[in-house]
Amino acid sequence: MGKRNFIYERLSRKIASEERSKAQREAEKMRQEFTANVSHELKTPLQSISGYAELLKSGMVKEEDVQQFAERIYGEAQRMITLVNDILELSHLDEGMGDIVREDVDLHQVASAAASSLKEEAAAADVSLEITGTRSIINGYSQLLSLIVYNLCENGIKYNNPKGSVKVDVTDFKDRAVLTVIDNGIGIPHDQQERVFERFYRVDKSHSKEVGGTGLGLSIVKHAAAIHSGDIHLVSAPKYGTTVTITFPKKGGNN
Ligand code: ADP
Repeated sequence: MGKRNFIYERLSRKIASEERSKAQREAEKMRQEFTANVSHELKTPLQSISGYAELLKSGMVKEEDVQQFAERIYGEAQRMITLVNDILELSHLDEGMGDIVREDVDLHQVASAAASSLKEEAAAADVSLEITGTRSIINGYSQLLSLIVYNLCENGIKYNNPKGSVKVDVTDFKDRAVLTVIDNGIGIPHDQQERVFERFYRVDKSHSKEVGGTGLGLSIVKHAAAIHSGDIHLVSAPKYGTTVTITFPKKGGNN
């Protein structure tokens, strides 16, 4: 090997190893931030539960208020369960899909099933839920695809107004399948449209809490779409609604 080649070889190896350790440092930083956020998010409902229970224990709560305190404890505990489930889902995605194999999946069928499972939630919020489109086969993980549709539809229902609507469509193209979820709900301000995909990010924390949000739904969608090499596009306007489109290539994809 000539001297020039030798120097070049050493230099490129050094750059590669620096890039690797930079990526490792960034991953480590993200993990630390995530752990800090998880602890904070779990601590809040736990402190409420502890507070209500302490009052009950002290005997200071009037007989007629006991029921209301029990309901609050139950509500906060339910919130913790939802949170823990979302966190488990995300860490499952972080670890890769393990030995679960990809298969050919009809995105339209998966989308119909996922959306149908939200019928009651939609009816309770007085929001209509409509599914259109055609069969479109992609190679992927049906559970994850179902989770994507479920989370997007659930948001369309949660961040909507009475008499609002959520429309789910799957369109088939030669080499790709396109999933679209359209709602005419409260919308997302322009400057926050990128941030909603971050873990624990919520536009209106108290509204999200009220409707049972964890701030993890869209980060799960983003992660699951990436595993299928899906391209996410969000268009939203406050007071008019939100449209999320994900374009999946039919073959290929990482992981
Ligand atoms: P959450 O569990 O809070 O719903 P997500 O990650 O699914 O968390 O969404 C993050 C935030 O983005 C929500 O708290 C909400 O403020 C906003 N958001 C998501 N989807 C919609 C939508 N369809 N319409 C309006 N706002 C939305």
